[in-house]
Amino acid sequence: MPKHGSVFSAMLQEFEGAARILDLDPGIWQILTHPKRQIVVSCPIQRDNGQIEVFTGYRVQYNITLGPAKGGIRYHPGVTLDEVTALAAWMTWKCAVAQVPFGGGKGGIICDPTTMSKRELEALTRRYTAEIIDAIGPEKDVPAPDVNTDAQIMAWFMDTYSMHVGHTATAVVTGKPVEMGGSLGRREATGRGVMIIARESARHLGFELKGSTVAVQGFGNVGSIGAELMHAEGAKIVAATDWKGGVHNPKGLDMPALLAWAAEHKTVAGFPGSEPITNDQLFALDVDVLVPAALENQITAENQASIKAKMVIEGANGPTTPDAHHALHKRGVFVVPDILANAGGVTTSYFEWVQDRHGYFWSEKEVNERLEVKMVEAFDAVLKTAKKHNVDMRTAAYIVAINRVATVTRMRGMYA
Ligand code: NAD
Repeated sequence: MPKHGSVFSAMLQEFEGAARILDLDPGIWQILTHPKRQIVVSCPIQRDNGQIEVFTGYRVQYNITLGPAKGGIRYHPGVTLDEVTALAAWMTWKCAVAQVPFGGGKGGIICDPTTMSKRELEALTRRYTAEIIDAIGPEKDVPAPDVNTDAQIMAWFMDTYSMHVGHTATAVVTGKPVEMGGSLGRREATGRGVMIIARESARHLGFELKGSTVAVQGFGNVGSIGAELMHAEGAKIVAATDWKGGVHNPKGLDMPALLAWAAEHKTVAGFPGSEPITNDQLFALDVDVLVPAALENQITAENQASIKAKMVIEGANGPTTPDAHHALHKRGVFVVPDILANAGGVTTSYFEWVQDRHGYFWSEKEVNERLEVKMVEAFDAVLKTAKKHNVDMRTAAYIVAINRVATVTRMRGMYA
């Protein structure tokens, strides 16, 4: 089976476990395991050397029962339709868990942005937007940044859409620059959500973040901001790694100094007053909280046995393999799944969309307060479901999500 085929299969595996417990009827089961719409487009652009090159782009609207499709656009040489479909399905469940009125979508273009100039990236973004223009819009499908796409790309996307419809339509994408309809607090939202979920999980297990010990794999947007905010809550961040290396200090890393060091050196490695550490050593630390916030498939059947943390908060998407997750749960480690733990990002994207549609912008304090309410509600609903069915938090999150989408599917009935 090709690698990309297994991405959608992994999604289906997680879906099936929860759908069985829900005793989901076969008709709804079929609907929820098929993508609503898959769009494939060819995007020709003129390269800087004058030659024309055609790039393949995808946009998948996996399910739009609860509202417009929502999900990022990825620029990467390894993009495949099956991977984009799986990611769009995960967005469906994440939005349903977070109780934001969106369906799930995802997009991607097969390209290597590291070999492209800014002008070429702009041309590709504009052509891709034009090619999928009939399918997108504030009421239809609202993209966002993902791997290798950023606020500038969202600005070009929004401008192209606006030129086609003849008016400025800020709500067609989220993750925009704040100056043109982006939301305050969006940049920090995923890390803030991770902190809130870690705090709630700790309380559930009978301790407070204040005075607890934390190790973070990945020190980018999610990992560094999650660590900064947990530190602000009184937690001791004892270790952090990134793609270049890692740092460890059992007494606690000086967070303001580490953040400044990482900003200057583009890595945590070499931070004064710390010892070097590898990912595997970080996973094996005797800490209260472990936050994988780098890549997928990091906690595996091979290394899970070394984990001593009381809880694993999945900041990254898919950091724990199914086998490892099963083993961790079996020996009592509290694993909070990605579709709940990193839902702070999409929740604040929802706030951005709401603000754009109202034309009225909230203070950062207001954004953060609303995020707090949504994340705590989502955590409580999943925990309650886990207790009710005596299942792990991942299965519980799927049960909550599938049940919400299935209920509305049934209410809306079958149009034929
Ligand atoms: P990022 O690019 O800002 O940061 C990624 C970090 O991981 C970097 O510090 C990088 O050095 C590190 N890393 C890469 N390879 C590593 C390795 N082998 N070992 C240790 N560290 C390594 O990305 P991000 O936005 O922080 O996203 C991280 C994860 O969170 C991804 O899985 C992403 O899909 C997920 N996520 C992000 C958001 C968001 O709003 N940014 C929302 C939901 C989920």
